[in-house]
Amino acid sequence: MTNIAFLGLGAIGAPMARHLAPPAFTLSVWNRTAAKAAAFATANNARQATTPADAARGAAIVITCLPTSHEVAALLDGADGLLATMTRGSLLIDCTSGDPATSRRTAARLAEKGIGFLDAPVSGGVSGAEAGKLTVMVGGDAATLAGAMSTLQAFGEKVVHCGPVGAGHAIKAINQAMLAVHIWSLGEGMLALSKAGVKPEVALDVINASSGRSNTSMNLFPQRVIGRAFPRTFKLALIDKDVRIGAQFLREQNVPSPMIQLAAELFAAAHVELGEDADHVEAVKVIERTGGGEIR
Ligand code: NDP
Repeated sequence: MTNIAFLGLGAIGAPMARHLAPPAFTLSVWNRTAAKAAAFATANNARQATTPADAARGAAIVITCLPTSHEVAALLDGADGLLATMTRGSLLIDCTSGDPATSRRTAARLAEKGIGFLDAPVSGGVSGAEAGKLTVMVGGDAATLAGAMSTLQAFGEKVVHCGPVGAGHAIKAINQAMLAVHIWSLGEGMLALSKAGVKPEVALDVINASSGRSNTSMNLFPQRVIGRAFPRTFKLALIDKDVRIGAQFLREQNVPSPMIQLAAELFAAAHVELGEDADHVEAVKVIERTGGGEIR
């Protein structure tokens, strides 16, 4: 039975980790706020670790799911850090939506100690994590991925090898940049239609049977904007981070990208305006405020 350590029991990390609990795997969990790890361990027959090093002791695979690559890199060092107990031949899988450059540096540091690294960000949201139906986009060595496939398939329905270390993070960042553009552009269009007297349900019915449709128009707006529900499943702060990574990646590749650069600016400003707890779809509230109306 593979011995797994999972670090970061947040909105998406906790439902992912649940698929790695006994009897299928042996699981140790660590979370910065220890009470969350304690509750998770009790409910899922896992071991609560006191530190990252304690979690990684004896683990063949360590999985991280934190806000950014920087928090992941910060867990490596010191007496309580992962490098204190991870052993040669073990593997760190980072499911954070991180940035390619930081992951390449982390992979190089681990390689010096004979430890493998895969970047493996996920898509599919909290509901996809609960159902074990995430898309997992993996950067790293193909043979290393083959050895980790059954672990990733515990929460991933579609696990794709994307290229070398950083490739998973790069694809995720571009996907998120597109999500941001979809949210903002649909918000603008729907507000204008509302102000012109078109019912949002009618507008979405037509758009969703037409070429402008997207996951945003088919799922996010019907479920969250029309009913004014705005459940907090994926923070605006996190999509701000994601679009920033995407915009940076495009600049590094010397691709002129005015649309995604602007999306990064818009989501950064929305994050400042709406704060740390807002959900990503609540960005439409900024469009409504500046546009003087509501999508109703
Ligand atoms: P949350 O904010 O819900 O959870 C963040 C987790 O990281 C918590 O466990 C938190 O601990 C921990 N953490 C935060 N800062 C630190 C730190 N400095 N050191 C150690 N641990 C820290 O985020 P999500 O679970 O939503 O997102 C996690 C990652 O997954 C992000 O990269 C996000 O972009 C990505 N993602 C999220 C999706 C979603 O639908 N939510 C979908 C796809 C990807 P604590 O409990 O102490 O706060």
